[in-house]
Amino acid sequence: MRIDILTVVPELLDSPLSHSIVGRAVKKGLVEIHIHNLRKYGLGPRRNVDDYSYGGDAGMVLMVEPVFRMIAELKAERDYDEVIYMSPDGDILDQPMANELSLKGNLIILCGHYKGIDHRIREHLITREISIGDYVLSGGEIPAAVVVDSIVRLIPGALTDETSALSDSFQDDLLSPPVYTRPASFNGWDVPEVLLSGDPRKIQAWQDEQALERTARLRPGLLKK
Ligand code: SAH
Repeated sequence: MRIDILTVVPELLDSPLSHSIVGRAVKKGLVEIHIHNLRKYGLGPRRNVDDYSYGGDAGMVLMVEPVFRMIAELKAERDYDEVIYMSPDGDILDQPMANELSLKGNLIILCGHYKGIDHRIREHLITREISIGDYVLSGGEIPAAVVVDSIVRLIPGALTDETSALSDSFQDDLLSPPVYTRPASFNGWDVPEVLLSGDPRKIQAWQDEQALERTARLRPGLLKK
């Protein structure tokens, strides 16, 4: 898999994508992540990438040309499955969407900034728009990092214990059961007995029951699916 991220603030993406599970997946060669600064195709001596919006709305808008040229350069080198724009009015990211995206080959992700991007980019160049929730952030970089993390951890080999992504919350429309580690007792707070029983059937039954109970209480909408 290859992911190309287009941004005017590449610094915002460096750290979240170079450590922990995502960073290791990159080092293992499971995914290539390339971050491109849109200023490469900025206009004029100051490499401008934004301008005032027509109609006089407050806030700067990312111009068509730098985005168009950056995408054209990438598409000349390989085919892309999706050209994604991070946008508060896009389809809201959830686990089924992350699962679907993790099966793709090459993705471009465009991060907006300021007031947004010239709408012609969305009309002519973007194939998919994704939001990470109904609130507005300053730029698309943190949302892009969220999407990339949710995808990359699903690539086989990214997690050390292969089964562990499957038992995460939302994978079967159930929340995950609680987890504990040593010591078995701390400060008078005890780990549930059954987890110390060594009986895999009993443990599984307890985990299933906990998952159902937590889902019914915390995310009843998931059970209705
Ligand atoms: N004026 C726009 C918001 C612009 S915020 C509006 O009202 O819809 C600047 C950029 O941040 C956007 O272009 C988008 O790329 C990104 N962004 C902000 N909130 C987001 C969210 N919830 N999900 C995905 N991207 C978001």
